[in-house]
Amino acid sequence: PTMAHSKALLVLENFIGGKFVPCSSYIDSYNPSTGDVYCRVPDSGKEEVEAAIKAAKDAFPIWSSKSPLERSQIMNKLADLIEHDLEAFAQAESKDQGKTITFARTVDIPRAVHNFRFFASSILHHVTECTEMPAMGCVHYTSRAPVGVAGLISPWNLPLYLLTWKIAPAIACGNTVVAKPSEMTSVTAWMMCKLLEKAGVPPGVVNVVFGTGAKAGEALVCHPDVPLISFTGSTRTAQRITERSAPHCKRLSLELGGKNPAIIFDDADLSQCIPTTVRSSFANQGEICLCTSRIFVQRGIYSEFLKRFVAEAKKWKTGNPSDPTIDVGALISKEHLEKVRSYVKKAQAEGARVLCGEGVDPLALPPGNQKGYFMLPTVIAEVKDDSCCMQEEIFGPVTCVVAFDTEEEVIRRANGVKYGLAATVWSGNVGRVHRVAHRLQSGLVWTNCWLVRDLNLPFGGMKASGIGREGAKDSYEFFTEVKTITIKH
Ligand code: NAD
Repeated sequence: PTMAHSKALLVLENFIGGKFVPCSSYIDSYNPSTGDVYCRVPDSGKEEVEAAIKAAKDAFPIWSSKSPLERSQIMNKLADLIEHDLEAFAQAESKDQGKTITFARTVDIPRAVHNFRFFASSILHHVTECTEMPAMGCVHYTSRAPVGVAGLISPWNLPLYLLTWKIAPAIACGNTVVAKPSEMTSVTAWMMCKLLEKAGVPPGVVNVVFGTGAKAGEALVCHPDVPLISFTGSTRTAQRITERSAPHCKRLSLELGGKNPAIIFDDADLSQCIPTTVRSSFANQGEICLCTSRIFVQRGIYSEFLKRFVAEAKKWKTGNPSDPTIDVGALISKEHLEKVRSYVKKAQAEGARVLCGEGVDPLALPPGNQKGYFMLPTVIAEVKDDSCCMQEEIFGPVTCVVAFDTEEEVIRRANGVKYGLAATVWSGNVGRVHRVAHRLQSGLVWTNCWLVRDLNLPFGGMKASGIGREGAKDSYEFFTEVKTITIKH
């Protein structure tokens, strides 16, 4: 056995019908900051998924007949229990995903706690519609009911954060769920399962099956007893899910990739804009669907912006994610690191300039992290709009900076990609920010800020970035079936 295998490995089990159950085969899971295998994840298939769906179906009558208030109280208890163990969850997320401990402590786990509290509260405040038709002697009203067993599939970049953003609204509305986290980041979902009984979540309400997309994910997507699938991940996987679920006419919510522009006009407050745009480019190693990867800067301030932006990017420290002073941790996998690096090489081959980071600056890593999947924040300039670096989602610490002249031109170029998830606009001109925001093909537009979210309002993308929206009202509508009832008096 290698050194990695001689250490005791963490072995996860599926959580089905309120019980942990071992699986017949397992997948290795790596610690991205060391390159060691440290955990074994069940390699579930049809059989395990079938058992989980059965448990969820059995639990549905009890859970769906509870009042919203009862469900809300249980969800608040679960939020308290996760919060009580926040540090353990943060450590686990950082180790499993490669993200910095600081990011896990301040973003991932607090948001997972908040997701449960938010939907525990919002479920108490929905109202349905009613209209009257006096001439006909009729009133019409709508009623909403949970749909059944919800299939939830989540990615590796914000593991517990995005999984709970689906579990919370699904169970608040009275559905039961079968969740499949990413096979690369399964640990915090497994830890959460340990708290469900104590929180009062009845067995079978939340089931978690671990495994790959091709096996466990597809078994869930293809199962006739799962009428709705909420998916966050890549556009390519969403296409596959759409095809595989089509014979069953399933309800789909798809939150997909992005190629998000930041548009910086010459009247922007650069003292705010530069640090925020460095953050929007490199936070969580650039592995956030909302990260900026195309920066359009108006010609008059282009060279000043570049100089200050590169200087700020160089301040970000890359290294051991468990060190609280580190800003950039490890990328998720060796394959992903190679893919991200290959974009930088392609840009260079096309004649673009790499101003800092990959291939330009030295990356010094502590002895224990030499085999980790690290990469420095990388800024590329003079990239052509049709380059793959300006068209495809890179999903790593790489951002491209280009110049523009007019408002009309930048709107056209910002919209010139297949994606439409998030955009950022920087300008001191109120009229202009509204004008530009309205014309951008993007589900979210932030002006003079980034990643400020009100969970009440819709979240999601246009074009290849998704179908459907999530948020207080949107998730409520997705996770319930509506009926219009007419009464003649
Ligand atoms: P992915 O599509 O490879 O995997 C996502 C999940 O789908 C995983 O759990 C995976 O196992 C599963 N899966 C894979 N193939 C499947 C199949 N055939 N059937 C069913 N399930 C399958 O995505 P990823 O690499 O884990 O995540 C990165 C992507 O997610 C990026 O494109 C990123 O932009 C996107 N993302 C979007 C949002 C958003 O809210 N719009 C948020 C985070 C990440």
